[in-house]
Amino acid sequence: MSRTLAAVTAILLGAMAAIGSADAAPRAKPDQIRYKYVRPTDPSHQAIYDQIKQGRALELLQQLLSPLRLPHPLTLKVASCDGVPDAWYGNEVVTLCYELLAEILKNATTRDLPAGVSKADTILGPAFDVFLHETGHAVFDMLQIPVLGREEDAADQFSAYVMLRLSKAEARRMILGAAYLRAKELPEPEPLSSRDKFSDEHSMPAQRAFNVLCIAYGADKKLFADIVANDILPKQRAETCEIDYDDLTFAMTALIGPHIDKISARKFHEVWTRTVSARRTRLNRQ
Ligand SMILES: [Zn+2]
Repeated sequence: MSRTLAAVTAILLGAMAAIGSADAAPRAKPDQIRYKYVRPTDPSHQAIYDQIKQGRALELLQQLLSPLRLPHPLTLKVASCDGVPDAWYGNEVVTLCYELLAEILKNATTRDLPAGVSKADTILGPAFDVFLHETGHAVFDMLQIPVLGREEDAADQFSAYVMLRLSKAEARRMILGAAYLRAKELPEPEPLSSRDKFSDEHSMPAQRAFNVLCIAYGADKKLFADIVANDILPKQRAETCEIDYDDLTFAMTALIGPHIDKISARKFHEVWTRTVSARRTRLNRQ
């Protein structure tokens, strides 16, 4: 299955023509992503601030998401959150807390993992996954996208789908890195009872890990063959992953496709390769 951006763009544009929705959001335009590095209030987060600023993490996300045609600017922000490791979307701003980035760094693997997952993958994958998940919420809200099922699951799927648009090697690293952290089940700020966990609006961390792996396997059975062969994703679940991915592709193509700008989407791979590959090399050296 082709993972090239050209193919994806063609599909998205085809969908746009097919449903005649070019005027779905007449005031929307591309290049609506803004960003803000707010200085941390906790001095122990200064190093994270320096690293992400130097690594131009938000500029990269801005470029990655710039093809989205939005009716208003969407700001991506990193900020201090009074000690709470969180991330959220509200009022056209995505906020990711330094506290959550600190958790991601603390839980990154210190050695390369069997599936070829490096330390950098277990930092970049989860960090981008959180931003893309929150961007999913932003997109559903700003473009008034109908969501069937739980919005938290839909936001996870939005993130997985965007990560799978990267080159094969990058997509694999991002997906496995994101799944690694989910599977680790980060401790909650306050211990939750089973009742609280089961009634939460999010699926449980392990379910979120299996779901993203399933979407990835459904997208490319060759690229992710080892996660089933090595029983990371159970065979029984793997049987339906292609259907899950097809459903997701149909939804993304029909609902988000009309809001993708073809011209700015063309720059996507070049930017990604140049900046993320350099960043990954630096992170793995640390
Ligand atoms: Zn969410």
